[in-house]
Amino acid sequence: MTSPSIQTKNRPRSEALYKEALQHIVGGVNSPSRSFKAVGGGAPVFMKRGQGAYFWDEDGNRYIDYLAAYGPIILGHGHPQVTAAICRAAENGTLYGTPTELEIEFARMIKSAIPSLDKVRFVNSGTEAVMTTIRVARAYTGRNKIIKFAGCYHGHSDLVLVAAGSGPSTLGIPDSAGIPMSIASEVITVPFNNLEALHAALERWGEDVAAVMVEPIVGNFGMVMPKPGFLEGLCAAARSHGSLVIYDEVITAFRFHYGAAQTFDGLQAPSLAAIEPDLTALGKIIGGGLPIGAYGGRKDIMEQVAPLGPAYQAGTMAGNPASISAGIACLQALAEPGVYDRLDQLAARLEAGLAEAAREHGIALTINRIRGALSTHFCDHPVTDYDEAQNTDGEQFARFFRLMLEQGICLAPSKYEAWFMTTAHTEADIAETIEAAGRAFSVMSA
Ligand code: PLP
Repeated sequence: MTSPSIQTKNRPRSEALYKEALQHIVGGVNSPSRSFKAVGGGAPVFMKRGQGAYFWDEDGNRYIDYLAAYGPIILGHGHPQVTAAICRAAENGTLYGTPTELEIEFARMIKSAIPSLDKVRFVNSGTEAVMTTIRVARAYTGRNKIIKFAGCYHGHSDLVLVAAGSGPSTLGIPDSAGIPMSIASEVITVPFNNLEALHAALERWGEDVAAVMVEPIVGNFGMVMPKPGFLEGLCAAARSHGSLVIYDEVITAFRFHYGAAQTFDGLQAPSLAAIEPDLTALGKIIGGGLPIGAYGGRKDIMEQVAPLGPAYQAGTMAGNPASISAGIACLQALAEPGVYDRLDQLAARLEAGLAEAAREHGIALTINRIRGALSTHFCDHPVTDYDEAQNTDGEQFARFFRLMLEQGICLAPSKYEAWFMTTAHTEADIAETIEAAGRAFSVMSA
């Protein structure tokens, strides 16, 4: 019997471009998550074109894309309505530095989908949005500390690049060079889905805590649901200590339905929509593939922001007509009936196919799926917090990632990242992906 094998693709131009990029761009990439460091290193694939659910690389190889640019590309690449909106905006000038009517239209759309946002402000990235919610919470409460959850990613501003100390009631330590201990000491990190640890931290530091910040549905150590009652308990605990609650919905807003996790009725009981945060950070999907972020929340809190209040935040590019136009077009397309049910159905088919293929080949695989987003964890235990996500087989993921890539399936090069379904994926794409996974598992189990 011959052992299964998968033909490797030739990518001489990607290899050459990577060498060239290394000469000019630090690490050859403009975001570390794009490097292949977490999957064994080497040249990342240089893509030349995206159309619908597909990428073509510089060597002409085609890939089915589940990266979706880490979330924003929910309509697939080059969606005609979004492209037309961007072109129209470009013809009228892409940046004015003045207010525009478009910004009002977009703010109205977002507010009507997420009613906890009495007022919003547009910025340029999720990082900026989160960073500012923290500043506003500090301004409003007059307190300095924040509590966040292990494994949740909130962008790369100083306060959220802080790792847990030695226990739930200890202060944080910098998670990046260049972040002073004085900043890390303002952050407490506790395990997700663990109310006891949160209570312990609030008991110890509550009077100084400006806000508890959380991804209400986690997208950064795979897709992980809050346990029933976790968010209610979190909000009650924060409020009983006079702290605000910030939801980081940069990934989750408009991902699972036309709205945010905080407006999502029906995924579990009690409903995620039973509670409202005080402040919310948005990004990714709301930009339709162009740079954007937004934050918003309760009127009295948002009125801390300049020019009304003492908390300063500004942006030359903020609310630019190109990003806003792309965002409006994207949300209009997502508001069409049946869009999210279709994403859900395609992802359900993918989940079932991957699970079946893994079982057939004796591969231990835990799949966390929430509507049109899923994550694959090489382990035989559930993944409900960061420790469990870490305790999975990274080498096996790296092998799987490469075997899929060689078969034209593009996943994120990290065991912690999700697969995102887009409206451009077809049932044939899903079938092709499941077949590729079956071959990959067969090689991995040989
Ligand atoms: N918050 C969450 C939950 C994210 O996943 C990310 C990015 O992946 C950010 C914030 C930062 O967003 P950006 O990369 O647009 O700065």
